[in-house]
Amino acid sequence: MVRIRARYLPVVMAGLLLAGGCKAPATGKSRPAAVHRVTPVAPVLPSVPPAAPRAVVTLPPPLPPAQASRPWVAKRLNNGDYVDVREIAERYNLRASWVTIGLVMQLADARGVVRLKFESKDHAFILDGTRVSLGETTVFNQDSLFISRIDVIKSVAPLLRPAEFAAQMPGPPRLIVLDAGHGGADPGTRNLVMHLDEKNLTLDVVLRLKKLLEGRGYRVILTRSDDSKLAAAQRPDLEQRDEVANRTKADLFLSVHFNSAPATVTGTETYVMTPQFQISTGEAKDATVDKAFPGNQQDLANIVLGYHLQRCLLAGLNSSDRGCKRGRRLVLCFPECPAALVEAAYLSNNTEASRLATPEHRQRIAQALAAGIDEYSAALAALHPAHAGPTEIRPAAAAPRKNP
Ligand SMILES: [Zn+2]
Repeated sequence: MVRIRARYLPVVMAGLLLAGGCKAPATGKSRPAAVHRVTPVAPVLPSVPPAAPRAVVTLPPPLPPAQASRPWVAKRLNNGDYVDVREIAERYNLRASWVTIGLVMQLADARGVVRLKFESKDHAFILDGTRVSLGETTVFNQDSLFISRIDVIKSVAPLLRPAEFAAQMPGPPRLIVLDAGHGGADPGTRNLVMHLDEKNLTLDVVLRLKKLLEGRGYRVILTRSDDSKLAAAQRPDLEQRDEVANRTKADLFLSVHFNSAPATVTGTETYVMTPQFQISTGEAKDATVDKAFPGNQQDLANIVLGYHLQRCLLAGLNSSDRGCKRGRRLVLCFPECPAALVEAAYLSNNTEASRLATPEHRQRIAQALAAGIDEYSAALAALHPAHAGPTEIRPAAAAPRKNP
């Protein structure tokens, strides 16, 4: 049986392997033994403390009621439709002002608190101190900054006032699938100095996170609970991870990874699915830019999930902010529920790796991820008050995969 994902796989895999972050080896290519032949390290054994009581979720203050819903006024710039940042300010009762004329514009609320910041020619904006990637760079034109209309619809608006999109947002999650990246013969990123394999760290964090989430009333399913892959070859292995979420009708899929880059690079980043017609963060082109994947059905909830995970990771780890990014990662293309992939720290950086080597820091990561899921859940519960709280558990009945 030919599944639709098979048609997309070559281009998706190309994007996956080109994108930054930890990467499994390409299928069919053996890794150079001279580089990777190291003394096998013992798996990091989880020492999981008792589950913490449910955290009190404190969301940023809600914005005042927006202007009545109306189409965004777009201006044709750079062969695309762009929206004036001043119109965003007007729509959400914020006050726009230049920090640096022609370069940086900020939007403040009625109390004078700066909520958003945009910089000319930047590929991101700042919301309440957290960096969120844009599909297109911001443009300075005449006396204002402009951002692409798709970015307004897919990122800015659902984060600023998710209530405008309540009908398109799911209820808070009950059943969560956690994916510990890599496993078995695929170690993921390796830090040979610290003798750490990514596959062991992801499993350890996921086991800790499972315990925390179950203590808060969520139901949790793992894609793997030991040092194994889901399939021998890389592509089926990756395919089967989000299929666990689809098969069990999960409400949320979260894949946990640790990053790889030149040794000086540090920080935390979170990926959610790239919207249709947008380029993924950090890529010059994307052969699948015009494709709509199943993961795009959840674009609005995806950005809310990714933002809260990134925000809580930054707060919990005090790490540098590499942003909530967009990527057509294979495990993000096909989930039929909101999904995110976190690269919580750089295993390739010895300072961050030395922290990852301690159970205390791995517990902090798990706690930050649990806090992010709690924030996301609270944001959705505010849209669907009748469904607040992870108390009603959806049965995990097997169901056939629905191909688009
Ligand atoms: Zn990885």
